[in-house]
Amino acid sequence: MRLSRYFMPILKENPKEAEIVSHRLMLRAGMIRQQSQGIYSWLPLGKRVLDKVNAIIRDEQNRAGAIELSMPTLQSAELWQESGRYDAYGKEMLRIKDRQDRPMLYGPTNEEMVTDIFRSSVKSYKDLPLNLYHIQLKFRDEIRPRFGTMRSREFMMKDAYSFDLTRAAAEHSYNKMFAAYLRTFDRLGLRAIPMRADTGPIGGKLSHEFIILADTGESEVFCHKDFVDFDIPGAHTDFDSVEGLQAIFDKWTSLYAATSEMHDEAAFNAVPEGDRLSARGIEVGHIFYFGTKYSEPMGAKVQGPDGKEHFVHMGSYGIGPTRLVPAIIEASHDDNGIIWPASVAPFDIVVINMKAGDQACDDTCEPIYAALSKAGKDVLYDDTDDRAGTKFATADLIGVPVQIIAGPRAVANGEVEVKDRKTGARETMTIEAAINRFVA
Ligand code: ATP
Ligand code: MG
Repeated sequence: MRLSRYFMPILKENPKEAEIVSHRLMLRAGMIRQQSQGIYSWLPLGKRVLDKVNAIIRDEQNRAGAIELSMPTLQSAELWQESGRYDAYGKEMLRIKDRQDRPMLYGPTNEEMVTDIFRSSVKSYKDLPLNLYHIQLKFRDEIRPRFGTMRSREFMMKDAYSFDLTRAAAEHSYNKMFAAYLRTFDRLGLRAIPMRADTGPIGGKLSHEFIILADTGESEVFCHKDFVDFDIPGAHTDFDSVEGLQAIFDKWTSLYAATSEMHDEAAFNAVPEGDRLSARGIEVGHIFYFGTKYSEPMGAKVQGPDGKEHFVHMGSYGIGPTRLVPAIIEASHDDNGIIWPASVAPFDIVVINMKAGDQACDDTCEPIYAALSKAGKDVLYDDTDDRAGTKFATADLIGVPVQIIAGPRAVANGEVEVKDRKTGARETMTIEAAINRFVA
């Protein structure tokens, strides 16, 4: 992508409305724009990061056996009247009427709709287990939307829903998502700790919130500090192994970890003092097992091996991609801007032409840009006629992991500089060496 033809509206000044660093940097880097309170456009740079986050989430959901579909944002009130939540949900639900005066709503979550899909076509235990997910916009009329997309009214969610014949089978489904979440957050460059959580308005029996420790987090959390270094399940984890997944779950729940709603002072005080971590955290995911809470009122049942009908046991599993992007920034930035983990960086490499229009500089940058792009890298080529200082500041602000800098002096020797955004380390090398480093 040539920066001269891209759309990346950088802000020079710090926006006054931003209270936390991620919100400030997302606005300054031209990633998002607020359209009305708590409702955002994702501008091209932000959209690239969001897409990469979603690709990792999708990959790990698929690995764990979940199946993607797409459900609409607008839902009929009827389904929610069946479950009893139409009245129970309160003011967070945006209620709308269509031209026939039928009550509709903008979905804050999808348990009812997915249960309806399930009951319309699954009739036998032989079709279980089943886990259906989508990545879709949600709307919750939050009383206090704030911190940019961290807590917005319209936001994106990956929500998965599992269906099983028995509680034991449902617990295996829960453990699959538990392990998938550990892998997902790790690939996003984050350390998320599963903590016992309140089951809230979704209701239920077993629930964990996945929390990233951050000073700006809205939740107060308490946990054993060893969680910070626990091993993440590998890519070859067998998601069909009941014992294997139970062992992962048991290990990751063997030490104290709870959010303030579930906090047990006495149990926490039993943790040796030096191992206690009491901090603030950002909730990036939440998983529930809630049994037959929806299947019973909505009549979602299957025939079991005993020939009888059984209400299915369900769970639901959410991750917030539009909250994850700022959460990653909270965890990874410096005074100059964002430092993206390579897995979600909007571009892999930025090629900075310090003097666009200068023959030698152009003749150096063009082939580097072409070769790296051809090799499948996402390359941003800063070919604008901005001053070099502005270009450096922009490259640091947008946090691309590698900068290849071509200035008149180095270019005269057939060389460029390669800078690592995270460490700031710089190396001078030939053009060929620079290309080979990232192509090989
Ligand atoms: P919170 O306690 O932060 O309001 P929640 O418990 O209401 O979250 P869930 O219903 O479990 O959230 O939704 C699943 C995930 O969706 C959350 O873990 C979070 O990552 C994301 N999410 C929820 N509400 C918002 C919001 N207003 N803005 C952005 N992301 C959100
Ligand atoms: Mg909420």
